[in-house]
Amino acid sequence: MLGLMQDRPLALPHMFHRAEQLFGHKEIITATAGGGERRITIAEWAVRVRRLATALDRLGIGADARVGTFCWNTAAHLELYLAAPCTGRVLHTLNIRLFPDQLTYIVNHAEDEIIFVERSLLGALWPLAAKLPTVRYFVIIEDGTVGADLPDDPRILGYERLLAESEPFAGRFEIEDENTAAAMCYTSGTTGNPKGVVYSHRSTMLHSLISLTADGPALSERDTVMPIVPMFHANAWGLPYGCLLAGSTIVFPGPNMTPKAILELIAQHKVTLTGGVPTIWMGALPLLDDYDLSHLRALLCGGSAAPKALSEAYREKLGMPLLHAWGMTETSPIATASTVRSHHAAMTEDQRADVRARQGQAFPLVDLRLVDPDTGEEVPWDDQHSGEIQAAGPWVAREYYKGEGGGAQFTEDGWLRTGDVATADSYGFIRLVDRTKDLVKSGGEWISSVELENEIMAHPKVAEAAVIAIPHQRWVERPMACVVTKPGETLTAEELLEFLRPRVARWWLPDAVEFIDEIPKTSVGKFSKRQLREKFAGYTLPETSS
Ligand code: ADP
Repeated sequence: MLGLMQDRPLALPHMFHRAEQLFGHKEIITATAGGGERRITIAEWAVRVRRLATALDRLGIGADARVGTFCWNTAAHLELYLAAPCTGRVLHTLNIRLFPDQLTYIVNHAEDEIIFVERSLLGALWPLAAKLPTVRYFVIIEDGTVGADLPDDPRILGYERLLAESEPFAGRFEIEDENTAAAMCYTSGTTGNPKGVVYSHRSTMLHSLISLTADGPALSERDTVMPIVPMFHANAWGLPYGCLLAGSTIVFPGPNMTPKAILELIAQHKVTLTGGVPTIWMGALPLLDDYDLSHLRALLCGGSAAPKALSEAYREKLGMPLLHAWGMTETSPIATASTVRSHHAAMTEDQRADVRARQGQAFPLVDLRLVDPDTGEEVPWDDQHSGEIQAAGPWVAREYYKGEGGGAQFTEDGWLRTGDVATADSYGFIRLVDRTKDLVKSGGEWISSVELENEIMAHPKVAEAAVIAIPHQRWVERPMACVVTKPGETLTAEELLEFLRPRVARWWLPDAVEFIDEIPKTSVGKFSKRQLREKFAGYTLPETSS
């Protein structure tokens, strides 16, 4: 017997029409390059989305063409977020910080037909134009910067002019099959070529809904949300879509992402929720006292482990620890979050801080299991055994675009191998110990680089730290700590080791401590261990080593 409910597609047109109909009075504010801002109501924004839909048709962009964006977090970017998928095309967000070779590869692999590019970013993209044969148009979005003259080329169009010349699409957008592709995003590709993750309308709608749940970001109409995490990185963790569904006011930081600029925006616009990688929160920490941040209710932090010391520093200063979430491009990206639950109530504050430093519990509809990479068997959730996290759910990838670049990342029974290694307590709160490729294997035992980094970063003189494996004759690998001290502080290796001794097992103590000026970062602001490994390739450990 079948259920007798309506079978309506879970598709982005619903999100668009809901926002247009119910939240037309709400605002989207975009900070512009020169320190100014642009304000637009959802009603005005919706008309521009409708014009853009017509414009894509007028330009003859294919029915399911990939529509590239090379943009900051701006209202115009959000216009593309809806106009492309609501017309059946596929939004393809391009990472503006990628190396030219990777960018060329990605645009060609996705066969983008058109790319919308912000004026200040054209200099990074245009030199590649000759190598991008599928791209018929580059549409320039003016973002308040004054660049060099635009190249005289028929492929170059102006965004505002294009919109002005296109009548707003008058009807209702329709997507019949909710499994139609809505957007795609390539993973940064720490190894091999970047891999294309393709989100569907259905996965996007379900993932957006989850950002409205109470044990997650809990987005509501009363929120003013500023997504700091880039819109080219896993759809800014789904925040922009979540805001449209909830009716939240949105503040986009535009091109200026310095800690000062971000804190100013939070204070000025009374932002209630924002989200970014730990690097952002580390940078903002010393400046918190200078701003009125009293309207904030949640600081989402993910993309890398949110160190306990950092989260505690926020709790002490703002009365609000970081809201720690975990996921990856392949999981849309939000898969878990660590909110304190009723069974944590009786704990001490310090124990609760340990809970918050965990990556947390899976969201509804996401299934996780921990699998021993050697035996292929699931490990128990006893907080002792660790295994690779495997994920399944309606917003988890089942394969990569064109099936390329990672068949081995999916199990025979259809789960995603995340490459992250974790333990879980009996409530399913996971604690990430490492990425499989970052673990340090010493004498057959794993050392968690993430945990070691957390302990090092708890030292009051340490700003940032990353741990990498160094080959060792006897133990195969031993940990090396690359440490950045806070400005004006000095620290010796011996002082640091002394600090670590009561905190970690003796055999976890790094064999070498290197003080460096800065930890190299990836294009999305995470510690780049690959670059550190390259920097220290051939490093020989001190004679005294273990
Ligand atoms: P990549 O960094 O590989 O380009 P993603 O941006 O999709 O791609 O990053 C996903 C990875 O980031 C995860 O597999 C995990 O290793 C790491 N990550 C994300 N969130 C967290 C977190 N809260 N704690 C620790 N690691 C995290």
